[in-house]
Amino acid sequence: MNAYETTNHYLEQAFNLLKLSDRYRTLLLTPTRELRVEVVIELDDGSIGHYIGYRVQHDDSRGPFKGGLRYHPEVDIDEVRSLASLMTWKTAVIDVPFGGAKGGIQVDPSALSRRELERLTRRFVDQIACVIGPTVDIPAPDMNTNARVMSWFFDQYSRRFGFSPAVVTGKPPELHGSLGRDAATGRGCLLALREVLGAEGKSLAGTRVAIQGFGNVGSWLSRLLHESGAKVVAVSDALGGVFNGDGLAIPALLSHAQQRGSVVEFPSASPLSNAELLQIDCDVLAPAALGHVLHVGNAREVRAKYVLEAANGPTSAEADQIFNERGIVCIPDIWANAGGVTVSYFEWVQNLQNLKWSEADVNASLERHMVAAHRAIKKTMDEHGCSMRAAAFALGVRRVKEATDLRGLG
Ligand code: GLU
Repeated sequence: MNAYETTNHYLEQAFNLLKLSDRYRTLLLTPTRELRVEVVIELDDGSIGHYIGYRVQHDDSRGPFKGGLRYHPEVDIDEVRSLASLMTWKTAVIDVPFGGAKGGIQVDPSALSRRELERLTRRFVDQIACVIGPTVDIPAPDMNTNARVMSWFFDQYSRRFGFSPAVVTGKPPELHGSLGRDAATGRGCLLALREVLGAEGKSLAGTRVAIQGFGNVGSWLSRLLHESGAKVVAVSDALGGVFNGDGLAIPALLSHAQQRGSVVEFPSASPLSNAELLQIDCDVLAPAALGHVLHVGNAREVRAKYVLEAANGPTSAEADQIFNERGIVCIPDIWANAGGVTVSYFEWVQNLQNLKWSEADVNASLERHMVAAHRAIKKTMDEHGCSMRAAAFALGVRRVKEATDLRGLG
């Protein structure tokens, strides 16, 4: 199964739990719009660079389309479709008034200069400008895109349509971004883990966690776990990983990674590969990078008791089944990593009102959303006697279906 088939498989499980008719299956599975653009730019040496970009708008029954923008060589229509659909259920589970969308450009951004990246972003904005807008579709950062890319995005859109900070979220705080947005996805993951452990009478203190991925989400998650007294025993990035059974010195590791561009060769830790990280003895495994890293070929080797899905779609359907059989609890992406879009919502609200919230207010509101979603997921689990993932999908689907029914097909 590819990424899109996996997402649809989880949706089918939810449709079955809710006993939905075929009418809804078609309505909820079908994306509203798929835009493909050829992004052609001039490179620094005068030659022409040609990249394929996408924006898939899955559903907007509950509010404007919302979702990130990813720059990665493996971006393709199936991946973007899957990620757009996941956003629909994520915004519903966390209960922010948005639908779901995703965009991406098939490009290796590390091969481009800063100026080339800027031209690529501005060209892409021009090409998708006809389908986005502050009340229509609001992009945000995702893999390999950041606050700087969102600044160019905001600027390019505003040149054409006038001052429009609410057209994109994840901007820097100096340019109408929200305080707390950078940390938000990692903070949401931490809160999800805290709630799940807390419901079983456990706490974060002393919990041993392995994190795959040390980008925005993985690095913030490691920092916040460390501050909460958890032991981050292993982390990795695209170049490799490091392990220390007593817990890695995260503040030192963060500066090491910043200086060297990677966690590898961090002193007082032993090296390990990405594949080994997934199989180490720990309480919590947090995939925080690419999709489908947990699959039929390695799911039986996972020794963690919990899989905290900081990435989007890290677990294949087969691996999910194996985890269920083995009693490994998957804390599903559409709740676990919803902190980012939740604070994107706060940013959008601040932009529309020309207000600025304090970081304490942002974090407190994020916590309320994460805790309320956990309560709703647990209730759904009890009702259906199902896994946390099946319950999260059922909850999201039920909320989107209700909105679809109320609006009518016209
Ligand atoms: N890219 C993030 C996600 O996958 C954030 C999306 C947003 O803030 O709109 O949830």
